[in-house]
Amino acid sequence: MFYTGNEMKAVFEKAKKNRFGIIASNVVFDTQVRSLVWGYDHQKSDGLLQMSAGACKYAAGESKDIKIGAQVISSLTKILGSQTKNSGVGLHIDHATPDYFDFVVFCIENGLVSSVMIDASKEKLAENIRITQEVVAVAHKYNVLVEGEIGHIKGSEDEIVSDTELYTKPEEALEYVVKTNVDLFAASVGTNHGVSKGADLHLRIDLIDEIDKLLIKNNVERGIVLHGASGLTLQQHLDAVKAGVVKINKDTQYQMDMATAVQAFWEKEKDAIVCPTNISLDAYVPDKGRFDPRKWLVKGENAMTKSVEEMIQMVGSQNQSIMIK
Ligand SMILES: [Zn+2]
Repeated sequence: MFYTGNEMKAVFEKAKKNRFGIIASNVVFDTQVRSLVWGYDHQKSDGLLQMSAGACKYAAGESKDIKIGAQVISSLTKILGSQTKNSGVGLHIDHATPDYFDFVVFCIENGLVSSVMIDASKEKLAENIRITQEVVAVAHKYNVLVEGEIGHIKGSEDEIVSDTELYTKPEEALEYVVKTNVDLFAASVGTNHGVSKGADLHLRIDLIDEIDKLLIKNNVERGIVLHGASGLTLQQHLDAVKAGVVKINKDTQYQMDMATAVQAFWEKEKDAIVCPTNISLDAYVPDKGRFDPRKWLVKGENAMTKSVEEMIQMVGSQNQSIMIK
């Protein structure tokens, strides 16, 4: 089923209490939404799908109308999600910078999403707090959850100058959460957006733990969010969840899995659409039985389903859906 903000709040509270993680999966296409919705359901795990501003622009086609694209992805999520009985999915806006404030409000007011991320982390802390407060004021009126961030998460979108600036300071995290009343807090603890290998990262589990304990001590316990988590090892997932992480963002992992599966298909089945050198062009007949998109796109879809199911098992959310009584 499709979850509103109220239901996602219950999902994250359960995850925090029982120390398991919820996989938040970036989507653009119907093929991805479909394969993920069923992957979560096979595992009786709740989940979150998320759309970036770029994904929404793409989903609209040539107009690049971000509001149209958001309605497309939201409709797909609601309609495809309505079929499942053993789990639910919410829809989240990933990394909306202050430039997208009006877009975020549009999505909230039109009931398109269950949660939003306002990412004003490039601003000074006071300004970040002010912008986040504005989003929280609108979102909470509509029972939509808000994720906020301080510190910088390295990656291709970022202009990070030095490694010393990367990590979230616990006392700033506390001030930010208290003043903004965000529901979810994204901490910068050493992960990277994009392609990375967990073993090469200096993931600061100690920092997640310190932030979590400080928030709890001050009666503002929150679910912590891990961005750029695609390449993490099993142990890193387990440690992060144990330390208080409830939302684990996955984007690059799916892109790689999907591309790998489709590439493997075409490497093997190339002659279905390309005339082999030992056959004359006149004699060659392309094979509709193999070039039909349902024959090769499905390889990517199946890879995504498998991928989300494996990640669910890593973070322990299987059989934990709030739909299961
Ligand atoms: Zn991110």
